[in-house]
Amino acid sequence: MSRPKGTPAVWQGGTVWLTGLPSAGKTTIATHLAELLRSGGHRVQVLDGDEARAALSAELGFSKEDRDTNVRRIGYVAGLLAEHGITALVPVIAPYAPSRAAVRDMHAARGVPYLEVHVATPVEICAERDVKSLYARQAAGEISGLTGADDPYEEPVDPDLRVHTQHQTVGESVRQVCALLTARGLS
Ligand code: ADP
Repeated sequence: MSRPKGTPAVWQGGTVWLTGLPSAGKTTIATHLAELLRSGGHRVQVLDGDEARAALSAELGFSKEDRDTNVRRIGYVAGLLAEHGITALVPVIAPYAPSRAAVRDMHAARGVPYLEVHVATPVEICAERDVKSLYARQAAGEISGLTGADDPYEEPVDPDLRVHTQHQTVGESVRQVCALLTARGLS
């Protein structure tokens, strides 16, 4: 539908949470999807996991309780952004199902769309990619508490979408997520 010239586009905001193991492809998909959506006139914010943790949860560690608190804080910020017409893309592991459900509920309470995308790359592929050398360091005994290696990851049972990046190019994965947004009226 065309808009009268000079009229700003008003888009429905929403949160797209990309959950999955380290090196699954969450950040890569979010970054490329952000570019794609921006080129279509959307206002988009990527809430990078490391940045958000440093800004919001610097005092927290990686216990189950602390991970849950971190996820809820990021979810709260995403919900606020989404409420104001921004598409919040959240490439954050979020290993525990109850905290993901809490974020979904928070969005529902505000009447804000929320989509959960499981970036379902198998751990063996993630460990091969090992973008931040975390799997190697865990295997060498230098770190512990790595999700998927020696810390739990509760797979989403009923995500809005599951992406199998091990069988796809980055472009294919991005288009798959973008198609979900289109189907739900978010792009
Ligand atoms: P995460 O944010 O989940 O920790 P990253 O996005 O930082 O993971 O890294 C994923 C790596 O996997 C990148 O090097 C990326 O190029 C690669 N990759 C290969 N195929 C895909 C795909 N289909 N989708 C996303 N990333 C992919």
